[in-house]
Amino acid sequence: MRSACPHGHGIPPATPAQVEQALEAAAARLAAGGGRLTPPRRRILELLLAAGAPVGAYDLVARFHSSSRVAKPATVYRALHFLETCGLVHRLSTLKAYVACDPDQPAAATTFLLCDCCGACRPIPSADAGPLQAAAAAAGYVIERITFEAQGRCAACRRPRAGPSQVGLSADGAGPVAAP
Ligand SMILES: [Zn+2]
Ligand SMILES: [Zn+2]
Repeated sequence: MRSACPHGHGIPPATPAQVEQALEAAAARLAAGGGRLTPPRRRILELLLAAGAPVGAYDLVARFHSSSRVAKPATVYRALHFLETCGLVHRLSTLKAYVACDPDQPAAATTFLLCDCCGACRPIPSADAGPLQAAAAAAGYVIERITFEAQGRCAACRRPRAGPSQVGLSADGAGPVAAP
């Protein structure tokens, strides 16, 4: 989470009902594949869904118990690893944090738009991973999941405030922008 964003906006966190609904969907999806949403897995997923933003493993350990009890890091990491291999959670390498996925829309390839200013993390339909899959298959490799991470600025943080200080900056990495 970043606190330095001066743009005064935020994505409203999921309501408890929405979190519960997503947990039910995740449990159903796991059950269909013979898996189980055990209490630690459920708790980790619940924390990530409620946060609505990427959360680091240390923070998950700290928040695991609502009391002052301290969770075993191994419990948290095991649950994260399981949820990740099931596609219910993505690990964002650039942030060293985890984010919950929409259990109703599992995707082998997901792209996250990360905002450098406010820390927002927005999933979008992924770019076509077909050529990558084909190249991997030619090398005898099976890709199980792909996470694309794009870094830049979200719509709210791109809005000019006092001055046009950001004009001319290419925030999306699409290439150099012609100078005015
Ligand atoms: Zn901002
Ligand atoms: Zn932002």
